[in-house]
Amino acid sequence: MTDVVLDGVEKVYPSGHTAVRNMRLRINDGELFVLLGPSGCGKSTILRMIAGLEEITSGILWLNGAVANELQPRDRNVAMVFQEGALYPHRTVRGNMMFPLEVSGDDRAQATAKVVELARALGLNTMIDRLPGTLSGGQRQRAAIGRALIREPSLFLMDEPLSSLDAGLRTELRVEIAALVRSSGTTTVYVTHDQVEAMTMADRMAVLRDGVLEDVGTPEQVYAD
Ligand code: ADP
Ligand code: ADP
Repeated sequence: MTDVVLDGVEKVYPSGHTAVRNMRLRINDGELFVLLGPSGCGKSTILRMIAGLEEITSGILWLNGAVANELQPRDRNVAMVFQEGALYPHRTVRGNMMFPLEVSGDDRAQATAKVVELARALGLNTMIDRLPGTLSGGQRQRAAIGRALIREPSLFLMDEPLSSLDAGLRTELRVEIAALVRSSGTTTVYVTHDQVEAMTMADRMAVLRDGVLEDVGTPEQVYAD
């Protein structure tokens, strides 16, 4: 578990475009925090800065009390899921979920048991030996979430993970994802442009516009205004 503090964080791209301005935000330990706003408002940029995939132009980002710039990637212990799961196409669901544990050299029997348990929680137990190409879009996203969560990251980042799915599946999966990350206790930052998704999932949320924080609070607080 970890907390995230953005203290006057700015991002100016080399093009000169300021994507994030003087952002002050605290994401608490164990919280499911949603960043909501229209396309281009800076949501992905914030997520990528938290993941260490994008440099911060100015300000300070704190991860669990440490200055993020000074952390090595492995010390961030961050996992991320994108719009398209980007699974390894030649590995089965099991193989994809095993991969992070193989890299970290976990005990094989324990790793296998862990993968089976998480696959069951994700409703993938009957699909565990299938290749990504034979799965539906929703099943692939479940597998991508499984691969991200298998190492029990201290911070879980999701960038529009449902936006390539049809409406029915989005409704179903957002409930499942919220339940899964809450039961794991993992601090989660979830990016979406979908207001209903934000309201139904968030413990707290931030509303962004043009790189600026417009509002922050619980969904009830944000929509009371
Ligand atoms: P969102 O995730 O809310 O759609 P992004 O964080 O992707 O927004 O982008 C915020 C702004 O920064 C947009 O205007 C986008 O065009 C711009 N931007 C994103 N990535 C780059 C980049 N690599 N170089 C220049 N501008 C970028
Ligand atoms: P969606 O459009 O909802 O993402 P798909 O049309 O991709 O779903 O798949 C629908 C169902 O067919 C899923 O249960 C999926 O597992 C199965 N499926 C899709 N492609 C294949 C395939 N090449 N081989 C076996 N099963 C497949």
